[in-house]
Parts: sequence; structure tokens; C-alpha cells
Amino acid sequence: MEIGFGSDMLSNDIIKKMKDYAKVNNVPIMTEGGIHYLLKYIKKNNIKNILEVGTAIGYSAIMMCGVAEDIKVTTIERDEKRYLEAIKNIKKTGLEDRIHLIYNDALNIKLTEKYDLIFIDAAKAQNRKFFERFENNLVENGTIITDNMKFHGLVDTEVEASISRNLRQLVRKIREYKVFLQENDKYETEFLDIGDGMAVSVKK
Ligand code: SAH
Ligand code: MG
Repeated sequence: MEIGFGSDMLSNDIIKKMKDYAKVNNVPIMTEGGIHYLLKYIKKNNIKNILEVGTAIGYSAIMMCGVAEDIKVTTIERDEKRYLEAIKNIKKTGLEDRIHLIYNDALNIKLTEKYDLIFIDAAKAQNRKFFERFENNLVENGTIITDNMKFHGLVDTEVEASISRNLRQLVRKIREYKVFLQENDKYETEFLDIGDGMAVSVKK
């Protein structure tokens, strides 16, 4: 998909540099398949106001802004190094007016604005807490998308004895979150085998 801000040459170069940085520094930005789906969803549903939990270095926030010139993103990051890197990247793309970056733990803040889409891509064990903290900020018929529902395939496999206790707990948390979404009848949730697994929950 084409991205439509600033000079395309410059933007593509910035995006490539972000991806390279993410690879070298082990920053878990969205996979190609995941970001492609997300951008398509935003375009198709004419989404304009987005809340993202988990900015990292700003890659997905910048990509989402690229879908249309009137899209705005509020995004939250608690890690200082990543936050500072995100600021740099947002400045480079000239998107300071459209991306509102909040440096804090998402579980410490309350927002009053309403969003068409809430994208949860932060600490995977906290998914339910993020969901419940921000669902009141969702518009009628809005969507909450959660990334990494498969967690590198670990969520759907039985190889648990061989993985560390921490990782096992994380996998259990993601499974519990999956059940929470399935049983939540205020939302219609679809689980997609795209990227690292995504849950798309549309408010009824
Ligand atoms: N959405 C980004 C990737 C985010 S990676 C992209 O695709 O480009 C997940 C990020 O969430 C990490 O940088 C981590 O520091 C941040 N994070 C985890 N828990 C958080 C919390 N409670 N509040 C704010 N940020 C959090
Ligand atoms: Mg992710």
C-alpha cells in the first residue's frame, strides 16, 4: 500500500531506517502481514482517530498516519529510549501535529477523548487491563485490535515443559485474554491468523 505523507522518497527512506533500527535493536515492531492488514482495515473503515498502546519507535503510528492525511494517532510508550527514538522519527516524518506521543505507563493514565480504533500492542500479559482501561474511550461501533495473539505460535502449542516459567505465564495470560474476548458479548471478536495473530473486536 502506498503511504501518503511528505516526499515519498524521504518517507520510504525513513521507514526503511526504522525497520533496520528495529531489527538491530530487537524492537518488536509489527510484521509486514500485520501492518498490511491494519492499514487496510483503517482505510476500509474510514478510521480517523486512533489510540495506540505501545509506540516503540513510532513505526506503526507513522504507518497508520500514512493511510490518509486526516488521521490522528495518540500513542503511549513507557520505555524512555524507545520514546526518544519515536520522537526523532516522528519529527523526521513531519507528523508532530498528527501524532500525540505520551511518555508514561498506559496503566497510569486516563484519557477523555473518543477513538474509532484502539490498537493494543504493548505488554502482552496486560492486554485485558489495557482493554478495560480504554474501552470507554471507544466510539459506538468502534474497534479494538490486539496484536500478538499467537505470540510466535506459542499460544496454540503444547511445548510448555520446555519453555521458561515466565514465558509459560505469559502464554497462559494470552490464552486467558483470548477467552475473555470470546466470552465478551459487548464485542464481536474475530481471531486472525495474520502477522503474529490479531484479535479484531468490534463493539456491538
Ligand atoms: N506498535 C509498535 C510496536 C510496539 S512494541 C510497532 O509496531 O511499531 C511494544 C511496546 O510497548 C514496547 O516498546 C514497550 O515498551 C511498550 N509497553 C509495554 N507495556 C507498556 C505499558 N504498560 N505502557 C506503555 N508502553 C508499554
Ligand atoms: Mg506487536
